[in-house]
Amino acid sequence: MKPDQTSSAGRVTRRVSLIIPMLNERDGLRQLFDRIAGAIQGLPEEFEFIIIDDGSTDGTRDVVPAELARFPLWRLVVLSRNFGQQPAYRAGLEQATGDAVIFLDADLQDPPEHIPQLLAEWHKGYKVVTGCRTSREERGLRRFLFDSFHQLFHRMTGRVMPMNSGMFSLVDRLVVKQLLAARETNLFLPALKSWYGYPQTTITYARKERAVGEPKQSFVKLFRYALDGLFSFSDLPLQWIAMLGAIICAASLGYAGFLIVEKVLQAFGYFTQLRVLGFTTLAVAIFGFGGLNLLALGIVGQYIARIYREIKGRPLYVVEQITYSQGKTPGGPGPV
Ligand code: UDP
Ligand code: MG
Repeated sequence: MKPDQTSSAGRVTRRVSLIIPMLNERDGLRQLFDRIAGAIQGLPEEFEFIIIDDGSTDGTRDVVPAELARFPLWRLVVLSRNFGQQPAYRAGLEQATGDAVIFLDADLQDPPEHIPQLLAEWHKGYKVVTGCRTSREERGLRRFLFDSFHQLFHRMTGRVMPMNSGMFSLVDRLVVKQLLAARETNLFLPALKSWYGYPQTTITYARKERAVGEPKQSFVKLFRYALDGLFSFSDLPLQWIAMLGAIICAASLGYAGFLIVEKVLQAFGYFTQLRVLGFTTLAVAIFGFGGLNLLALGIVGQYIARIYREIKGRPLYVVEQITYSQGKTPGGPGPV
């Protein structure tokens, strides 16, 4: 598909919005914007920076405007507290006015030098271009958990999103519109952006270690994020419970049948010696089935909790303040 020269907003130059969520990323800002500036230099597109301060306590919001001053078009959206990475990205989508949007973490794990590649695929007509990691620099438990999640997610959700991908990607305005229309509270954008269909492709890159500071996604946050992904894209856990329940029922029916036959045979004089079942078997059965019940309840509970969250319909995030670059962004909602 040949790219059209005129954007949906009637601009000749196509505008690309870079959405970057930040939680306490002050120390890495200079390096981040230097790298981005280098990567986008000479590109024909107009770039709009959408920075989301997701409840930082290190003064990120005070430093961002000065660091962004070298770029003509930007918005700093300060949320009223920490809402999490996915709501922060969602807040960015709401503000972006570009013909395409690029999702980029602030920690330089996904090198901005790959932005031209994302754009090249977009120009070919692809509406979703996802960055897939060929390697990761993370090690240890974090690495193990990431790899396990991707394997599990891929198997459970029937390949809804490309393997080994995350937020680093580009989506066309068509997809942005869809994402904005989705009112999901349990947001899992890496898969949702691919779920809509449209022509999609991938680029590959090596994922680096975080450039500055510690990961802001704690294990607890990552675990919740993983569950949000799994439960909002798969009903398989519920099917597993049902199947397990069926198997256990069949087994207990079989055992009951066996006991009846044994009783009848005893009445005819067979198996007359008294057999007492061991305590261990009994204890294992009680604890085992008790645990299984709780696990099943827990899984069902996960879905119910998500339904409850969706029904309440609370906002995903609350904007405290938006700062705009000098030039008022045409096409956007404008300063409030
Ligand atoms: N982030 C955020 N809110 C949070 C946690 C993280 O906005 O509650 C941002 C963070 O500043 C970074 C991106 O989301 O720009 C990814 O976070 P991080 O690198 O800590 O996570 P990981 O690399 O483990 O996915
Ligand atoms: Mg990171």
